[in-house]
Amino acid sequence: MTSHVFQSTVTKPKAIAKDGKGVFMTIEKNGKEHKQVLDAITGAAVGSLGWGDPDVHKIMADAALQHTYSFPGNIVNEAAEELSRFYIDNSPKGAFRSCLWTCSGSESNENALKIVRQYQLERGKPEKLKIISREGAYHGFTLGAMSIGDGPRGIPFKDIMIDQEHVCLKMPMFYPYRRMKEGETVEQYAQRLVDSLERIVVENDPNTVSMVCVETMSGTSIGTPVPPKNYLKGIRDICNKYDMIFMVDEVMCGTGRVNDGKLCCWENFLAPEDAPDIQTVGKTLGSGYVTIAGVLVGPKIYDAFEKGSGLIVGAQTYHSHEFNCRVALKIQQKIFSQGLTSNVFKMGNIMGKRLQNELLPDPNNIVGDVRGLGGFWTLELVKNKTTKEPFDKSLHVGARFAESALHHGVNVMGLTGGNTKGEHWDIVVLGPAFIIREQEIQLLCSKLKETVEDVTKTLQ
Ligand code: PLP
Repeated sequence: MTSHVFQSTVTKPKAIAKDGKGVFMTIEKNGKEHKQVLDAITGAAVGSLGWGDPDVHKIMADAALQHTYSFPGNIVNEAAEELSRFYIDNSPKGAFRSCLWTCSGSESNENALKIVRQYQLERGKPEKLKIISREGAYHGFTLGAMSIGDGPRGIPFKDIMIDQEHVCLKMPMFYPYRRMKEGETVEQYAQRLVDSLERIVVENDPNTVSMVCVETMSGTSIGTPVPPKNYLKGIRDICNKYDMIFMVDEVMCGTGRVNDGKLCCWENFLAPEDAPDIQTVGKTLGSGYVTIAGVLVGPKIYDAFEKGSGLIVGAQTYHSHEFNCRVALKIQQKIFSQGLTSNVFKMGNIMGKRLQNELLPDPNNIVGDVRGLGGFWTLELVKNKTTKEPFDKSLHVGARFAESALHHGVNVMGLTGGNTKGEHWDIVVLGPAFIIREQEIQLLCSKLKETVEDVTKTLQ
């Protein structure tokens, strides 16, 4: 099929999405065939309420009637104010003080990098410049976001990204399936990574290191490894020790996707007093109906601005866009009033456990690992389950799996991840809508099992 939309597949997508209802969407293939597929990834783990929600129809119609547009400055729009209050009130007490609403996760990370840079200037520490993030990470496709990312996606742009040698440094990725040593517990492995972070900070002069940035649970980079409690706590403590900002990217894993009844993913792993200093969010916030993402600013950064210039350098036309904020707020209110984050936490865990029980024991299939938590899970596909040898990159096994899954009636995200050291891996990421029910979870697991059998056969 040829397409005129300049997107990542450029000219050869496999299908056109026509419409959706709940957790299903209708796709058109080859210009004629209409097919209903169970959407197990909702775009890029965006859809929280599912598709075609009549309440959202009403919310959007009302929001359009009420709409005023005010450029960020003297006038703050009411919807942005209320959405900020909602996020702050539903995060651990005292964690966040202020929010900036943007139009995408990349843009949020871009803004967060600039806010932290300005924070260091406001407090008279211009030498604090360096940013430490992780090998293999993905934080978006703008130049700043790519600079704190790693892997093949940044390679074509590395000459125009922020200096990778002196400013944007990398620490080891958190990847227990591939990086844990034999006999090591996940906590020991996590401690090893925390120690190596400290070494990197010390070797690079702590007075010049500004921040550490990690995804609470990696999504499209490594595929939903669940960190033990000592990992993020260890990073938090290192940040405190060396006066560095602790930033988490929860664009994909946050806003209810992995939390039984709450918003932030890190609440699974960190005590409220260990909250990040700055956090980015996106995706499920607007459930894919509006393009909204955000930067949540903690009291430490907020106070420096308040005592300093009081001015954030960088107002963008669509910052805190009124319509997007109002729709996102109402969507979040619906999700909370119906307990949908708890629902997806429970349903996702049922899905993950069933996939673990049914796919991992078979020595002949290609599923090397099944990992995740709540509404965020991954299958890792390998050539050899004993040695964990990945498939040859040129086979594009992740993408092949997603194509086969579509044929079996389920939409997933299949991709080949990697880092700039040349390692690569094939993953299939699952992030269903929060409204998913148990019979749909069972149907999804059956279809994934069929897909695994088919793809395994084609690779033998
Ligand atoms: N950060 C993470 C962790 C992501 O997974 C993504 C997108 O997948 C982004 C940032 C970028 O968000 P967006 O695609 O909305 O720009």
